[in-house]
Amino acid sequence: DKVRVGLVYGGRSGEHEVSLQTALAVMKAFDYTKYEIKPFYITKAGEWRAGTVLLAPPEGLELLRLSGGNATSGTEALMPVFNGLADQAPAISSGTGAINETIDVVFPLLHGTFGEDGTIQGLLEMANIPYVGAGVLASAVGMDKITMKKVFAQEGLPQVIYRHFNRTQWDKDPAFFIMEIEVALGYPCFIKPANLGSSVGISKARNREELIAGVKFALRYDRKVIVEEFVDAREIEVSVLGNDDPRASLPGEITSSSEFYDYKAKYTDGKSEMHIPANIPAETAEAVREMAVRAFLSIDGSGLSRVDFFMRKEDGQLFINEVNTMPGFTPYSMYPLMWRESGVSYAELLDTLIGLAIDRHAQKQ
Ligand code: ATP
Ligand code: MG
Ligand code: MG
Ligand code: MG
Repeated sequence: DKVRVGLVYGGRSGEHEVSLQTALAVMKAFDYTKYEIKPFYITKAGEWRAGTVLLAPPEGLELLRLSGGNATSGTEALMPVFNGLADQAPAISSGTGAINETIDVVFPLLHGTFGEDGTIQGLLEMANIPYVGAGVLASAVGMDKITMKKVFAQEGLPQVIYRHFNRTQWDKDPAFFIMEIEVALGYPCFIKPANLGSSVGISKARNREELIAGVKFALRYDRKVIVEEFVDAREIEVSVLGNDDPRASLPGEITSSSEFYDYKAKYTDGKSEMHIPANIPAETAEAVREMAVRAFLSIDGSGLSRVDFFMRKEDGQLFINEVNTMPGFTPYSMYPLMWRESGVSYAELLDTLIGLAIDRHAQKQ
């Protein structure tokens, strides 16, 4: 019998479009002799639309690759750009009740809030359906940069200095936080919504004016904000795969086309480069892989995570930046490419993730 996979994509987040790209890539890559795919598209307004079961890869929808990108060592370093899947999302059904009668395992391909943050994971737990990736706790901790940093600190993982506050605290006494930030972090600094991804809402401030503007900007996306010390660093990433005994891929490096790795550099301008494996000393590679596994276990991860690091240019010092419990997952994304370079193909990755989801569910029973 074929495994019926519910593919949930889109969603109420700033990363809606990224999720569409991933969903299409996954739909095309599944081995349809082993799987049937039932699509569930969530609109930006949060409405669920259940599609008809796919018995073969969808036709007519294409991942377009931008020209002008630079392929680098062993990777196709070009980001797919995609439009159209949302428009073609078929038949509307109300609610999620239809999921559990027909689905063996759900693959929530949602990035950011309402998807990567434990919300849909909670829904699937309630419905007793196995699902790919992190559970409720790991998703929530991984999405909240403030809580994540506290868990990492407890684990002894090195991090940059930071300050955080919520909207009410900031509104009450902005001068207090400005002073704290100027004294402890200095400029430039990075301002981020606590819960998001794909660099949405993030800015770099060089002075007080930009700090204030950056905080206002971040507060548009979340009621909590984190401000971090800037590190002039190389960006190293590691893919982690597994449940209780996870393994780490070879590290990769991102070189951004912009001043930092912002949304445009990630998805649209096609100029950022991926270097896989990263050209770093063997000890550094070992260290980041070991830290990536520790970070994964510290948040109680399962399935997959991409763990991002900074390697300070000045002295090679490593800092963990974050875990992403549902990283970009097109065939041109870092996560699958780092596995490919480590000997795991995209199709094998899908099989493994489905297997891990079913294993974890069985262990809970
Ligand atoms: P993702 O798409 O990986 O989930 P995100 O929205 O969670 O991204 P971060 O990874 O925290 O955001 O930051 C986005 C980018 O901003 C980083 O890849 C890096 O280029 C830059 N950046 C973030 N924090 C710092 C920092 N403290 N110092 C220097 N650069 C930083
Ligand atoms: Mg992130
Ligand atoms: Mg992310
Ligand atoms: Mg990141």
